[in-house]
Amino acid sequence: MNLIDLHTHSNASDGSLAPGELVAYAVQKGAAAIALTDHDTVAGLPEALRAAEACHFELVPGLEISADYTGGGMHILGYFINHADLFFQRELERLQEARRERNPKIIVRLQELGIPITYDQVLALSGGQIGRPHIAQAMLQIGAVQTLDEAFTHYLTKGAPAYVEKFRFPPGRAIDLIRQAGGIPVLAHPFTLNCTTIEQLTGLLRELQAQGLQGLECLYSEHTPDQNREYLALAEKLDLLVTGGSDFHGLNKEGVEILTGCGALRIPYERLQSLKDLKARH
Ligand code: AMP
Ligand code: ZN
Ligand code: FE
Ligand code: FE
Repeated sequence: MNLIDLHTHSNASDGSLAPGELVAYAVQKGAAAIALTDHDTVAGLPEALRAAEACHFELVPGLEISADYTGGGMHILGYFINHADLFFQRELERLQEARRERNPKIIVRLQELGIPITYDQVLALSGGQIGRPHIAQAMLQIGAVQTLDEAFTHYLTKGAPAYVEKFRFPPGRAIDLIRQAGGIPVLAHPFTLNCTTIEQLTGLLRELQAQGLQGLECLYSEHTPDQNREYLALAEKLDLLVTGGSDFHGLNKEGVEILTGCGALRIPYERLQSLKDLKARH
């Protein structure tokens, strides 16, 4: 089977591999194609596309935008975006600004909690854009935690003592921006919405679909087989495209491998073909 991975991160956001290294790694692992979907930035795409072209590998230009949603985490993936679009880049700059505002506040909170990491230390671990995984790595480095997961659960996750909010686009705005840049918006890892019933999730997806959402990431590392089945049925019912990905972050997310996720993930090339067919009809 030709396997693909439509959700990966490079060090342009919070993955540990440079975009070119990520492409080389995907090739080495035998991927038929991958999408690079860094958080809130397209900065890694030129390097990834160049690396892919040099070895005749199929790289889908993408990104993942965190949207404003109180019930949990809402991430919107955008595939086949025109990353050179200047308006799109300018809008993404607002998200960079939001990080520059938030990150020092998290570090101050940690210092107040007796964890002496510094902004420079965190910056050195990043490829420019700082995310919470870099802060977690810095905490690991000084021995304040034993695992990245511990850093998140005890300090960095929503509700934990060093969590600080940042500006996010409303979901409809994130969807619009992706479509204006020629991309296909897809809701990532639906379980992080924390819907308690399938009816609630269906309602939410219908709202997003009315705002332009075109796909659902039904296949994901951390989904159980039951969740995969449930989301596939829902995508079929709502006529949403099905995508899937591992959310590979290299060393910055423990236990998640490219292509296979936590072990059981398998995404056939046909899922990418449907995306490409939709893009071609635009
Ligand atoms: P940020 O974009 O800076 O708010 O950081 C969010 C990123 O942190 C997510 O996209 C994940 O990559 C990572 N993350 C969130 N929660 C956890 C967790 N519990 N364990 C490990 N990584 C996490
Ligand atoms: Zn991430
Ligand atoms: Fe995500
Ligand atoms: Fe992700």
